[in-house]
Amino acid sequence: MSGNAILVVNAGSSSLKFALFRLDTAGVLNLAARGQIDGIGSQPQFKVKDDAGRALVERELEVTDVREVKDAIALAGLWLSTHFPGEALLAIGHRVVHGGADYAQPVLVDDAVFAALEKLAPLAPLHQPHNLAAIRALRETRPELPQVACFDTAFHRTHPQLADVYALPWEYYAAGVRRYGFHGLSYEYIASVLPQVAPAIAQGRVIVAHLGSGASLCALRAGRSVDSTMGFSPLDGIPMGTRPGALDPGVLLYLVGQRGMTAAALEKLLYKQSGLLGLSGVSNDMRLLQESTEPRAQLAVDYFVHYVAKEIGALAAVLGGLDALVFTAGIGENAPAIRARIVAACAWLGITLDSNANQRGDICISTTASAASAWVVPTNEELMIARHALTQVQGA
Ligand code: ADP
Repeated sequence: MSGNAILVVNAGSSSLKFALFRLDTAGVLNLAARGQIDGIGSQPQFKVKDDAGRALVERELEVTDVREVKDAIALAGLWLSTHFPGEALLAIGHRVVHGGADYAQPVLVDDAVFAALEKLAPLAPLHQPHNLAAIRALRETRPELPQVACFDTAFHRTHPQLADVYALPWEYYAAGVRRYGFHGLSYEYIASVLPQVAPAIAQGRVIVAHLGSGASLCALRAGRSVDSTMGFSPLDGIPMGTRPGALDPGVLLYLVGQRGMTAAALEKLLYKQSGLLGLSGVSNDMRLLQESTEPRAQLAVDYFVHYVAKEIGALAAVLGGLDALVFTAGIGENAPAIRARIVAACAWLGITLDSNANQRGDICISTTASAASAWVVPTNEELMIARHALTQVQGA
């Protein structure tokens, strides 16, 4: 094994996010740089920051230079090798949204694995093809490097059967209509750090609230996922920035059957136009909604808090009680007022907020007398992917 760095790649439809981690002599991965190319194919922009968040580059690119993911990869690769000439890559870790029913762990990508992941594309048509485009491009340009696929679904493969099926005829389950769950890399990271940051709860009944622009909840028992609010797709569960969360399927039947909506129009409605944005008519950004005086902006915030609290109750029922609630991701880490309202709605579960600790953004935000505790733990999906990629090459 030669080399001292891991590159993490997260490729989407119009953006490429990447992070470079250096392996120190103690075997610890440290962030060296984090960047992204947005607006691929339209108005590409290139930004990279160092480990302290200082801008290393921020510039517009020509659309003719960045038409697709593989152009963005080539550009980012060139920039990284110029600015970090001392780093030799050990492996590249890729965020891949769907690992289907079989991948419960990250996997080194060979031809057979790649073909299997391509077969899963219909389950995540908006994300999987772009994730795979990045792997394909890097397998061509850097064939000597191990490419490791890390899945958003894998951490949830520990769900019991009851949390894996829908009440549909079995042929649909066999055809792949299952509750896969998502945000698994975030939950896995949180579960991996709880023994250090909150040892008293790590083996207990914990609900993790990943509240970002995408949002979901995960029920952990002794650090393993037993249920989550997202299911077959990342649309289910609690409301999000532009996705509605759980919706009566009768609404979809009505929109298709009575209003003649196409699958493409429905996809746009459910992924891009609903949630906080649709309900408020103002924004998908919780910061703007909190500042807004528009009644519908307030309604959207109320709706978010209400449904997060309601689903925490549902997962507490699954766990048979609750030892701790952990907040993470953009809203969970940065919005004390939203945390306070959610915790207040969960008072019946025995959580009492320490308002000062919550305002300060302490790790523990519940009082010492609180029967169940509340925490803020920043997530780090990129580091989780980097660790997985390293483990795969070390084990190879
Ligand atoms: P993703 O990685 O899914 O894009 P993040 O976890 O970065 O999302 O979360 C982004 C969201 O977090 C933003 O859209 C915004 O609504 C919310 N957010 C970030 N900072 C704050 C803040 N200080 N107050 C309220 N909401 C915030």
